[in-house]
Amino acid sequence: MGLALTLGCAGEAGTAEALEESAEEFSTAPGEANHEEITSTALAFLKPAVLTALTAGNVSTDALLALSNAAHFDDCNFSGGAAFVAAKQAEAVRALGPSVPLPDGDALAIVAFGHSLHALQDFYAHTNWVELGGDVLVDQSLTAFPPLRPYSVVPSTGFIVVQGGKPRHLAVVRDADAPYPEYAIVTVRERRKTAYGLVSGTVDYEPGNHCPPPVAMTHDELNKDKSTVPGRTAQHLAAESLAIRQTRHEWCRLNQLVHDAWGDAGTERLAAWVADPSAAPDCSAE
Ligand SMILES: [Zn+2]
Repeated sequence: MGLALTLGCAGEAGTAEALEESAEEFSTAPGEANHEEITSTALAFLKPAVLTALTAGNVSTDALLALSNAAHFDDCNFSGGAAFVAAKQAEAVRALGPSVPLPDGDALAIVAFGHSLHALQDFYAHTNWVELGGDVLVDQSLTAFPPLRPYSVVPSTGFIVVQGGKPRHLAVVRDADAPYPEYAIVTVRERRKTAYGLVSGTVDYEPGNHCPPPVAMTHDELNKDKSTVPGRTAQHLAAESLAIRQTRHEWCRLNQLVHDAWGDAGTERLAAWVADPSAAPDCSAE
């Protein structure tokens, strides 16, 4: 699919200013993570107008894509979430190509990149990554965001992606009667080998539920969206910290992908978004 000039999709938002106005129409859904805070903390080195537009693009994910479990890593749709992140970042890269002039290209890229950040920030708040003890990023490569295939191993932690009906040779279990956070620990067994199982909470209003019934948990049972969720403050803070780190890493990934596609011209497009290069991550060390 070529470059989709979906300006209509973002309203008449051709400029950062227009996006800034539309930001007021969107508020983070009541159960959602503090995306604005995470994004502005992680990417504080960007120009204020870019950061505002990026935050608007991020938060608009809840309004524009409220029914897409992939956009929020809900319902154990890990393959869909990973594909969503990769597709949105590819969209951002295309928009930063030389054939899409400023400011439209930048505006499109900012919205698409914002959507990808939203999904990745939700990943840590909506899954049991934190409860399983995951204290590293789900992916720290600088290539396109990798697929998360059902019942594959996540290389960074060894967690198994629990999505859809389990293969017959595996047992997938959890203790639903245990208190939090123990009840969120999913175990995948293959003969004598065990590994942790990665799941996310189910959301009724989003079609499609890929969580196998024996280990499924609702969004309410698992989310760490806010510090005020009773009994989950520590987990919320852990999820927030990972979301901030992932968001900074995604800046490096975007820079790499843009350079791969468009060379120095692409790098310069992104450099123009930065207000304080000294506060930007050292992507060569990532
Ligand atoms: Zn969300």
